[in-house]
Amino acid sequence: MDRETRHAQLAETYLPDDLLERFRQRAAVYDRENRFFDDDLAELRERGYLRLFVPPSHGGPGLSLNEVSRLQRRLATAAPATALAVNMHLMCTGVVAAMVARGDRSLEYVFDEVNAGEIFAFGVSEPGNDWVLQGSNTVAVPQDDGGYLLSGVKIFTSLSPVWTRLIVHGLDSTGEPQLVYGFIERDAAGITVSDRWDVLGMRASQSRATILTDVRMRPDRVARRIAPGRVPDLLTFAITSLFQLLIGSVYSGIAERALELGAAALTTRRSAKADARYAEVPEFRARLADALMDYMAVPAQLDLYTREFDELVDHGAGWPLRLVSARLNASTAARRACETALMCASGAGFDNTHELSRLFRDATAGLFHPPSADAARPMYAAALLDDD
Ligand SMILES: Cc1cc2nc3c(=O)[nH]c(=O)nc-3n(C[C@H](O)[C@H](O)[C@H](O)COP(=O)(O)OP(=O)(O)OC[C@H]3O[C@@H](n4cnc5c(N)ncnc54)[C@H](O)[C@@H]3O)c2cc1C
Repeated sequence: MDRETRHAQLAETYLPDDLLERFRQRAAVYDRENRFFDDDLAELRERGYLRLFVPPSHGGPGLSLNEVSRLQRRLATAAPATALAVNMHLMCTGVVAAMVARGDRSLEYVFDEVNAGEIFAFGVSEPGNDWVLQGSNTVAVPQDDGGYLLSGVKIFTSLSPVWTRLIVHGLDSTGEPQLVYGFIERDAAGITVSDRWDVLGMRASQSRATILTDVRMRPDRVARRIAPGRVPDLLTFAITSLFQLLIGSVYSGIAERALELGAAALTTRRSAKADARYAEVPEFRARLADALMDYMAVPAQLDLYTREFDELVDHGAGWPLRLVSARLNASTAARRACETALMCASGAGFDNTHELSRLFRDATAGLFHPPSADAARPMYAAALLDDD
């Protein structure tokens, strides 16, 4: 079966058109009422969406990153916040699949837990930690049994109402500093979820801050101990890859939908002066054409890099350049596409009840995922200008 036929079949199996339409209708309600996407999650779970990366050896469909990226793009055309949040669970399971594919089976128990209904989330972002994965302000105190007690603040924990397993990192400074990675469980003592969440976009993701006070990480849930700083490691490579490419997929989906809505607006609106539909007015055609040209590089990058990742292509130090560029381009394209589409829709799109108004707000969240363009620029400059 050729690849496009397979993608179409997966779309029909996991995200058929009628489901997407329901999700789109609900997205407006979740956004307005600032509440979590409970009904979407129930439907996704029922269809097996939370098990996409679980391999056949563990009874799952074992989708590739390329296939999941396509599905996430499709989901985001209807419900960006649902897609962004469910990404965090998919990312955790995809990281384990990527590690297994590269010969490290140490986290395979994650598949069993997903099969048992556990929901994984991603608790890495911390206030003032621009080292992101390579440092942590969370304190990890080693225990006699090999586990840790963690204290710190994780910000923007998507899926906050429902997650049951959270991948976190913290710094153990009791000897030679070590970053500790592993999973904590929702019913562990010392976890508080912030009651503050009133944000511009992606509201249904309910990405509230999580405060950890002496939270136990069991010894068998410690995944890695790594020196802080730029230390190559399979776990952090897999997290970076899955994070950048799946987040990029969400913003690609937003851009795609915005362009669709922009085109639809031009075909329905009429210009009195031109005595024609706006779809025939050259300035508007050019504006939409430029946005489409910008956008088309985005799925191309995502498709290529997800396939290369699945095929274990070794780009070495060239991987971060590819991964970050794919995600930054996707989020820039999403914001531009939304702005263009709003201009096509004119004042109607400015109304808070218009889908484009919500997409525009959701797309702004793309400004905040790490690394920002400013943080990433030195890496690109060094690739061209430095010898080592
Ligand atoms: C919609 C969305 C979803 C995200 N989902 C995830 C996710 O699931 N997992 C993840 O690891 N990262 C997630 N991120 C985080 C993101 O990728 C960035 O790391 C983060 O936005 C960078 O924040 P900053 O340094 O600008 O934060 P800052 O400017 O330092 O803080 C941003 C906000 O965090 C809160 N905050 C800051 N300090 C504290 C504190 N001490 N106590 C309580 N709250 C505080 C406040 O609301 C503050 O406005 C998400 C981001 C967005 C926009």
